[in-house]
Formats: sequence, C-alpha cells, structure tokens
Amino acid sequence: MVRHALSLSIPWFTFVNLSFALMIYFRNRLFAHFDSTIHLRQSILPVIDDLMLAIMLCAVLLGIACYRFSAIVLALSMAMLLLMSLMWSYSCYYFIVWWRLPFAWPLVMILMLTALAALYYSPRALLLFLLPLWATALLASIRLNHGINGHFMLMWLILTAIIAYGRHILQRWFNEAWLRYQENRLLIARLDIMAHQDVLTGTANRRAMEDYLACAFRQGQPFALVMLDVDYFKRYNDHYGHQAGDHCLASVAGALKSSVRTPADLVARYGGEEFVVILPDTSLEGAGQVAARIQASLQAAALPHAASEVSDKVTVSMGIALSAGSHSVTEVISRADDALYRAKQRGRNQWGQ
Ligand code: GH3
Ligand code: MG
Ligand code: MG
Repeated sequence: MVRHALSLSIPWFTFVNLSFALMIYFRNRLFAHFDSTIHLRQSILPVIDDLMLAIMLCAVLLGIACYRFSAIVLALSMAMLLLMSLMWSYSCYYFIVWWRLPFAWPLVMILMLTALAALYYSPRALLLFLLPLWATALLASIRLNHGINGHFMLMWLILTAIIAYGRHILQRWFNEAWLRYQENRLLIARLDIMAHQDVLTGTANRRAMEDYLACAFRQGQPFALVMLDVDYFKRYNDHYGHQAGDHCLASVAGALKSSVRTPADLVARYGGEEFVVILPDTSLEGAGQVAARIQASLQAAALPHAASEVSDKVTVSMGIALSAGSHSVTEVISRADDALYRAKQRGRNQWGQ
C-alpha cells in the first residue's frame, strides 16, 4: 500500500518541483528580463540557475526511483529529498532576504504543502523535506525583520499546526483505506475459494477443474486424468439415506486427497458421485499406481456398503486417459469416461484405460 501510494504521489511531487524549478530557470523568458529588475547580488544568479538544474535532476531521479523499490533506492530517495529541500531552502532564503521577491513566501508554502500531500504516509521522508524549508522560513523572517516579528511568528506557528494536524488527518485516512483494502482482499480470496470449491467434499469444483484443464492444455502441460465413480451409490442412498450418502461422498473425497501428491495433483468433484483426479506429468503406469493407492485408501477407510454387489465396503470404478494424443480437454474427459464405462462393465471396483 505504501509502495502503491509512493508510485502515485511521487510523480506528482516531481511534477510540482520540476515546474517551479523550470519557472525559475526560465524566469527571464517568462517574465521579461526578470534579472535586470534585481539590483542586489547579481553574482548569485548562476548559482541559483545551477541549483534549479540540480533540483530538476533530483526531481526526475526521484520520479524514476519510485518505480524501482529496494533498500538502496529508498535510502537514495531520502537523500535526494533532503538535498532538494536544502537547495530550495538556500534559493528561497535569497529570494526572501536579499531580493525580497513577493512570490518567495507562497513558493515555500506550496512546496511544504505539496510535500505534506505527497509524503504524509512516510514521516521520515516528510520531515527530511519539510524541516529545512520550515527552518528557512523562520530564519528568513528573523533576518528580514532584524529580530522576531510577532505577526510572523503567529503565522509560522499556525502553518506548523496546519501541517502537523493535516498529516495526522491524512494518515488516518490512509490507515482506514489500508484496512478496507486488506478486508476486501480477504473477502475476494474467500469468495474465490468458494467459487472454486465444492462445498460438500472440500475438493475443487467442476468450474475449477475446467479452468485447470484448459490452462494445462494451453500451456502444453501433459497430464493423466482419472475419472472415478462410486459403485452402486444409488443403492447406498436408498439403504443408508441421503445424509449418510453425503457423508460417504466426503469420506471418498478424503481418501482421494490422501492418495495424491499435493499441491501438484488436483482432485475435483465432477458431479454427483463422480470425481476427477488430474495428475500432471504422469504416465499410464504412474496413474495406475495412483488408482491402486485410491483403492487401498478406500479399503483402509472401510466405509460399509451393505447394498453393493461387488463388496461389503464402498468401492469405486476408475477410467484413466492421458492428455497426449488428444486434441481437446473434452476428448481427454470422454476417453477417461469410456475407460470408466468399460471398468464398470467388467464388474466394477477396478480401473481401466
Ligand atoms: P454405478 O455403480 O453404475 O455407478 O451405479 P450408481 O448407483 O452409483 O449410479 P447412478 O448414476 O445410478 O446413481 C448415482 C446416485 O448418486 C444417484 C444420486 O442420488 C446420487 N447422488 C448424486 N449426487 C449426490 C449427492 O450430492 N449426495 C448424495 N447423497 N447422493 C448423490
Ligand atoms: Mg455416476
Ligand atoms: Mg456410481
């Protein structure tokens, strides 16, 4: 968030500093021979021009630096902020004390308020830029008035309060926005999980599976696909009730998840009592080993199924297909489905390819 804020506000800060420095550098063109109206200390003019060029350079570097974050860039940016402020302070001191230019006071104020708006979330950066200008305003006034001027002091203290209170308010807004941003991210992450997860079994849902397969196909990532179907599940529901059927599906999903490598492999509920397991970079032999592990896990889970014709425990039939040789996701799924159908035909509780 701080980085985001930096990348938004620093270019503006750069723009303001650059504009003022350019205006002062090209003052004679903009304000008809401006220098000839100044009678005091003409010798300092080349120094002021050099300072404006240096400020422009620093402002541009700062603008570039805000897109490349690292500890060293941050330290350099801080140094640049201080340098810019010192150069502005030196120039403004001359503008106020020696040349008594009317625009010098507003220039100092605008620079300080710009820094407040651009850097309020970084107290260190803000102080580095503000302090020299803030002290310069005080020193210039003392020098100009040959001592402390009550009216000026009042104005100066009000300005200090405006900046301190302004920073506090801006920081509060920033913190609230940051909190809301975090909450929204959390909410989006939760919604994302909900949109891609099957509520009953906690596996990926069909949409997540389709996204995953489409992505794997686009990237040319080879995979094996195992399509599973719980044997005689209608009878299970009829015998134990629909709620027990739901629990059974969750247990089957647990057995599937414990039989694959995570997070590389994906277990998804395809629909009803059918699941799909996607195994990236896996051969037929490897997929067969996973199928054997699934059978073993289900055997270990020992979920009773009194109405099954093939076993007294819950079993599954599986069909395996490889992505290699298929032209689309649908084709791979259809081949796995055909293999599953053949496994069912052969007597269930087995896998085929
Ligand atoms: P086969 O061995 O040939 O696969 O027979 P089967 O009974 O498993 O297959 P069939 O397609 O005839 O029945 C599937 C049953 O799965 C029917 C449906 O009520 C049940 N089912 C589908 N989704 C759910 C679910 O979310 N919860 C429960 N409890 N049952 C479900
Ligand atoms: Mg089925
Ligand atoms: Mg079935």
